[in-house]
Amino acid sequence: MKDIKVLWFRQDLRISDNPALYEASKTGNILPIYIYDNKNSKEYDMGSASRCWLYHSLNSLNNALENKLSFYIGEPINILRELINEYQVNQIYWNRCYEPWRINRDKNIKEELRSSNIEINTFNGSLLWEPWETLKDDGTPYRVFTPYYRKGCSKANPPRKPLSKPNTLNLIADNKHSVKLDKLGLLPKISWNKKIMRHWVCGESAAQNRLNDFVNEGLTGYKEGRNFPRKNNVSRLSPHLHFGEISPNQIWYAAKENNDCASNDKDHFMSELGWREFSHSLLYHFPELPYKNLQSKFDLFPWNHDEKKLEAWRHGKTGYPIVDAGMRELWQTGYVHNRIRMVVGSFLVKNLLIDWRYGERWFWDCLIDADLANNSASWQWVAGCGADAAPYFRIFNPITQGNKFDSTGTYTRRYVPELEKLPDKYLFSPWEAPDEVLSTANIELGVNYPQPIVAASDSREMALAAFASIKKENV
Ligand SMILES: Cc1cc2nc3c(=O)[nH]c(=O)nc-3n(C[C@H](O)[C@H](O)[C@H](O)COP(=O)(O)OP(=O)(O)OC[C@H]3O[C@@H](n4cnc5c(N)ncnc54)[C@H](O)[C@@H]3O)c2cc1C
Repeated sequence: MKDIKVLWFRQDLRISDNPALYEASKTGNILPIYIYDNKNSKEYDMGSASRCWLYHSLNSLNNALENKLSFYIGEPINILRELINEYQVNQIYWNRCYEPWRINRDKNIKEELRSSNIEINTFNGSLLWEPWETLKDDGTPYRVFTPYYRKGCSKANPPRKPLSKPNTLNLIADNKHSVKLDKLGLLPKISWNKKIMRHWVCGESAAQNRLNDFVNEGLTGYKEGRNFPRKNNVSRLSPHLHFGEISPNQIWYAAKENNDCASNDKDHFMSELGWREFSHSLLYHFPELPYKNLQSKFDLFPWNHDEKKLEAWRHGKTGYPIVDAGMRELWQTGYVHNRIRMVVGSFLVKNLLIDWRYGERWFWDCLIDADLANNSASWQWVAGCGADAAPYFRIFNPITQGNKFDSTGTYTRRYVPELEKLPDKYLFSPWEAPDEVLSTANIELGVNYPQPIVAASDSREMALAAFASIKKENV
């Protein structure tokens, strides 16, 4: 067979609005491949929850590609070379990825293959704006969101309109070197994943359905409703977006072109997509974002690491119901509502004084939407050490947050059922409930629900003192 192009799927697991696939499909035949690269990723290898999602997403993509998607595991350059030799390939297509390790790897692959006269065609399939295009007038990257977004969003520079599915796809499969999807080792040996995956449907069609449902039912009221974890005003598109089952362009235009919805809700939702772009821009320009404080004065921060407290936080046993609900939502569903991500993050960093990087790693392993740019930038934001971060002295009070954003207790009681019968008045501070109230609600603190592992007010004072100590250093 002649004119075979390799289409390397990576974080773009969809057929519609896929610029690399669209271009590659114009002539000739396509050999679609997915490589699970566990060689170059090192400490950024996907977490357990992400790997589960990936398995189901690949399965869905393979079905959509007439079961012609070929799977591999290992060093991409070796696999590509094998395919080039076997099928006389002279063109490779992919959509660009933006994690530092993938950028380095892809750069090396491009250089090596181009020197062997292989044509490499790369496209933007996952961002509204390339990170190297949205820069300040002096050519340096933005560190503050609002001017970044204003520039990215300027009328002169609208995001690319989504592409349709290719009209025809002449697909071929490699049955010689590929392995079965099951051999990528994505699913865990103990099947905890089934519990998480009950909450989700993976793949491109599911992502499009989610978008339609959200635009029709959740977008109106988004601006306010997005703060309340019991409401259906958030899209829950983040895992679909991370794996590229849907593009930001498809989401952007679906929201923008919805005429039934008030512009403040639409604008706010689109600006959250803007935060995703901003995080990617930060990661691109500051590749140390996942592990290094962007504000170096935080390098001297006197963390107070305590393994027992960290374990209690991880497993939703801090004695603070809104924090425990969030951490158990994470464990049970692989997702946490944004408001609650901020609450649990603030609690770890500012009430427990545990380094944000422990939180970032736990999220990396447990989130189905774990995303290096969004996760690192958001943790730095919560800790106060990032670009455009929440000021350090903004400490989320877990009791006030609970009363304000889960006033009916619907969300908290769903994930912390042992508090089901506790009246709303004490739901977010059970230790304040009189003995007879606790006993009527069948709660014995320290026995079937933990005593608080720190006192919120004391720990707040400690956090402020720790912050004052680094401010003095004036680094
Ligand atoms: C400590 C912490 C860790 C986080 N880790 C991740 C992560 O690993 N992966 C991830 O995708 N998001 C992360 N976020 C950002 C945000 O919480 C999620 O993107 C959001 O909750 C996903 O739900 P949604 O799709 O319903 O959001 P929606 O409100 O419907 O927003 C639509 C999309 O906009 C983007 N978005 C929304 N809020 C943010 C934000 N604050 N920063 C960047 N992009 C945003 C997401 O892609 C999201 O899917 C984190 C936030 C915090 C505070």
